[in-house]
Amino acid sequence: MTPVEILLAPQALTLVWPNGSATLSAQALRAACRCADCRAATLRGQPISVPTETALAGLEPLGHYALQLRFADGHERGIYPWAYLQQLAVASDAAAFR
Ligand SMILES: [Zn+2]
Repeated sequence: MTPVEILLAPQALTLVWPNGSATLSAQALRAACRCADCRAATLRGQPISVPTETALAGLEPLGHYALQLRFADGHERGIYPWAYLQQLAVASDAAAFR
């Protein structure tokens, strides 16, 4: 499923899907980054260090399957396939309702 609309704000990314919309905070997206650096840290068992002032600075669509997000701190190699973004949205909804 591909989003019909993508809204970028410094503190959050909103994805509008054909069956609803989801908002993910800059903080959550940064913590879920899967770029080579963050993946290496995770493999070493280190938490991904998320700056407290994380903001989104831009995005680049990658073909029809993913977004590459750029953060204000210069972190910009994370690739977020649609399915992964949907998973994150479901996870953050679940957390919000707890
Ligand atoms: Zn990263």
